[in-house]
Parts: sequence; structure tokens; C-alpha cells
Amino acid sequence: MKCISILIPTYNEEVSLPFLYEALISLMDNYTNYNWEILFINDGSTDSTLEIIKKLRTNDDRINYVNLSRNFGKESAMLAGFDYVTGDCAIIMDADLQHPPTVIPQMITYWEEGYEDVYAKRNSRGKESILRKKLSLIYYNLLQKSTRINVLQNVGDFRLLDRRCINALKQLRETQRYTKGLYCWIGYKKKEVIFNQANRTKGKSSFNLWSLLNLAIEGITSFTTAPLRMATIMGFLVSITAFLYLCYIIIKTIFVGEPVQGYPTLITVILFMGGVQLISLGIIGEYIGRIFNETKNRPVYIAESYNETKL
Ligand code: UDP
Ligand code: MG
Repeated sequence: MKCISILIPTYNEEVSLPFLYEALISLMDNYTNYNWEILFINDGSTDSTLEIIKKLRTNDDRINYVNLSRNFGKESAMLAGFDYVTGDCAIIMDADLQHPPTVIPQMITYWEEGYEDVYAKRNSRGKESILRKKLSLIYYNLLQKSTRINVLQNVGDFRLLDRRCINALKQLRETQRYTKGLYCWIGYKKKEVIFNQANRTKGKSSFNLWSLLNLAIEGITSFTTAPLRMATIMGFLVSITAFLYLCYIIIKTIFVGEPVQGYPTLITVILFMGGVQLISLGIIGEYIGRIFNETKNRPVYIAESYNETKL
């Protein structure tokens, strides 16, 4: 019998977990022709999430959990999940019930038809601010234009991955992770299902605008060096303009003469050049930072225990 794993990264989700479990139970009871595993990754929660998971496990041996030694962030937690998941496929979903389990049967059907990466695309983003929606649109357009990898908009981590995809993802152990891009990078046969994103039922989102901005920069810098190219082109453009302006000034001084003037022009040019240089330095620094972090070659996460076994 095939085994389906449900992989759930959890960080301070004590209020959502009971509801999530209930929803999953009714799903699993409808599909008894599969073995099921629910793998929770406890990402260093500070509330009673871990205790709740442990309690659920005492009554239901389909539940496994990995406890990370601290909060490593969702991206790292998901890699831990890929490492410990045992099923023939894994369905990644959020703990907050924003990913409706009702979509899962459709995913399984497609998986049985031979698709290896069935991703859920939301057709509405639930209750989110207009600013967040707009920014996300701009961002995806930018990412689309600057990379050769097709990172899909409105597609998150809610998806079914075949064992082959999981094994592929396990090999990608970069520390600064942008998993959404990695799904596209590994390839394999993909299929889309549409779902309506629900609002977060309980608790509050742990991603604010700042962490989303950081994730966005992560996405761009881990998949493209286009910003470096842009800095170069910008440098060229500014230099050429400056050179032409220089010629103009020399000629003008020779033929017309030049009373001492031009303080505003000078300042403007200096400030402009300074700005361009700072931006370019920042961009270079961004990439050097990534090199720095990757060369340390640290593990992406530290697992403290798998079920009752201390690691
Ligand atoms: N999550 C995690 N580690 C973190 C932050 C979040 O494992 O550091 C989990 C969280 O428990 C949830 C999922 O990632 O299951 C998505 O988090 P959230 O709902 O806060 O994000 P949003 O839906 O706003 O993108
Ligand atoms: Mg959420």
C-alpha cells in the first residue's frame, strides 16, 4: 500500500493544531486505501505546540514529529521535513488551515495519473492588504523578467511532491533557501490545482512586511545575478553621460569662456555618482554576503529529536 505523508512546519500554532488535526482525520478516514503519515516539524515554538503534538501522537501512531533545536524559519523547517518524511509522496501544508485539506483528493488523483509535483494555486489571496497584493504582483513580474526559472505567482508551498522530487530537493542544501524557486529548478512533471485561500483561522501570521521583503531579496539573489549586470550597465550609462558632459564643458569653456559658476551642477553630479556607487556596492555586498554564508557550510537546521529519540 502506498504511503502519503503530510508535512507540516509549525511555529507557535497551539491554537490551530486541534482544528487542523480534526480536518486531517476526516480526510485520512476517507482514504483508507493509503497509509498515512503526518509529520510535524516543530520549528522552535515557544508555546505548547510541541506538547500538543506529543499528545496527539500518543493516541495516533500515524503522527511523527521532528523537533528543531530552535526557530530556524519555515524554509529550513521544510528541508528538515524532506529529510525525515517517509511516504511515497509528501503533501506540504501550513498549520493555520489556510491550505484547505479539501484540495488534497484532487492532488492525489493527479499524482496517481503520474504527475510528480502537483501544486496548488490560489485564485484569491484571502484577507490581505492591498499593499501586500500589489507588491507581490510587482515582485513576481520582476523575478519573472530577471530569471530563466519560472517562479509561479500565487503558488506557495502547498503542494504534493513525489518521492523523486523530495529526493531531488534533499540534495539542494543551500543555507539561504528560497524553496519556491527550488521547486521550479528541480523540474519534473508539474500539474496545477486551484484553491481559494482561506483566512488564517487562529493565531496570527508570523510573516510581516519586513520578513517578506527579506524573502523577496532572497528570491532574487539566489536565482539571478541580474542586479549585478544592472549595476554594470548603470555604471556605463553614467560614465558615458559624464564623459559627454565633460566634452561639452571643455568646448564651451574654450569658445565661450566660463565665469566661475556651476556649484549646483557639481553637487548634483557628485550626489548622483555617490548614490549609484552606494547602490552598486550594496548589490555586490548582497552577493558576497551569500558567498560568506554558503562557504561556512553549516547545516541548514539542527534537529533536537525525532519522535521520542534524542538526536
Ligand atoms: N512557520 C514555521 N517557522 C517560522 C514561521 C512559520 O515553521 O519561523 C510555519 C507556520 O507555523 C505555518 C507556516 O509556516 O504553518 C506558514 O506561516 P504563516 O501562516 O505565519 O505565514 P503566512 O501564511 O502568513 O505566509
Ligand atoms: Mg498562514
